[in-house]
Amino acid sequence: MLHYRDARQKVVSVVGSHRIPPVTETVPLLESLGRVLAVDVTADRDYPPFHRSTRDGFAVRVADVAEVPSALHRIGEIPAGQAFDGSVGPGECLQIMTGASVPEGADAVVMIEHTEMKGDQVLVKRAVARGANVVPRGSEARGGDSLLLAGTRIGYPHISLLGQVGCAQVAVFRRPRVAILSTGDEVVPIDQPPSPVQIRNSNSYSLAAQVRALGGEPVLLGNARDDVAELERFIRRGLEEDLLLLSGGVSMGKYDLVEVVLRRLGAEFHFDEVAIRPGRPAVFASCQGKFVFGLPGNPVSTMVTFELFAAPALALLAGEPPPPLRFLKVRLAESVEQRTQLTMFLPAQWEGEGAEVTVRQMPYQGSGDVVAVARADCFLVVPETVKQLEAGAWVDVLLRQG
Ligand code: AMP
Ligand code: MG
Repeated sequence: MLHYRDARQKVVSVVGSHRIPPVTETVPLLESLGRVLAVDVTADRDYPPFHRSTRDGFAVRVADVAEVPSALHRIGEIPAGQAFDGSVGPGECLQIMTGASVPEGADAVVMIEHTEMKGDQVLVKRAVARGANVVPRGSEARGGDSLLLAGTRIGYPHISLLGQVGCAQVAVFRRPRVAILSTGDEVVPIDQPPSPVQIRNSNSYSLAAQVRALGGEPVLLGNARDDVAELERFIRRGLEEDLLLLSGGVSMGKYDLVEVVLRRLGAEFHFDEVAIRPGRPAVFASCQGKFVFGLPGNPVSTMVTFELFAAPALALLAGEPPPPLRFLKVRLAESVEQRTQLTMFLPAQWEGEGAEVTVRQMPYQGSGDVVAVARADCFLVVPETVKQLEAGAWVDVLLRQG
């Protein structure tokens, strides 16, 4: 059976080699938050644009303060945002503010705390090295340097950088449209009273939330009954979007018809089983030029298989480079047993703070137990190769995206 890392790699290689470059649109800077940058961004000028003082103090010539205390003549002052035409000569200094441009002649800034000023006499009490408290012009970036690459997911530091270089409008990729189709005779809309044996369609909403958290645009198609003709009609509709996610109907049951219908529609299956719990029957296929995930219907299976397999496909369709699967290493609070030969993803909770953080498995009734996942804040990853993880062991933790 396929290891989840190989299954994920399969998704990355298939989607990575067949996707069409996304369409570009232009949005105001703040609207670009969470979107994917569509163009490379370069520096419009040097950064900093001038030799920038990082302190309030005095711009000096290092040679003048080699021996301290040293008395210098104050020739004026320069606040941030002003230009000083003139230069600092031997025996002179210029009072300077944080963020101001260090003048010609000066090669360091002495902090005001290390000086005494009497009229225009400044007593420097501490020597400074050349360049102290000055960020040289162009040391962060030279004009024309590449700052951000197309494919960058825009977070607040990128917003800051885009603002710094004057990008009031930003070219971003269009959000991928993701069709979401739930399946199952027992599934009813969330705003309808279920009979005692029916369940509400929570999967469509959790998937839509996961899609949105990754910058996609969910298109909710509702629920198809376990009926070949109805499934086919809904799946055809779903194939009109950039990506189709189905929940349910991929196990071994008599009414698990998703694969049957996909096959009728000419699908090519890249995998239909992965060595994980929950989520073992996960399906990834190409159908009529689109990518399709058939995610198992148990709500926790749906969530985990989205994180592991659908999320990288969505990122690629959104124009990002293949996202690495990142686990955190945390110490285990209490031992965990493993009775399967599958990699387990168990709802777990952080405890403690800072260096004392540990992770503990939640009470959990299995892949239908959304209560446990909602109370948890991550998934503990138990490798297929171990029988038991001891308390205190370093373990892998998968953080939720959204
Ligand atoms: P299936 O994968 O179709 O065999 O479904 C497995 C389990 O997930 C069953 O208990 C279903 O009732 C449940 N399930 C299927 N679809 C949904 C859904 N849309 N929302 C919540 N639970 C679901
Ligand atoms: Mg079903």
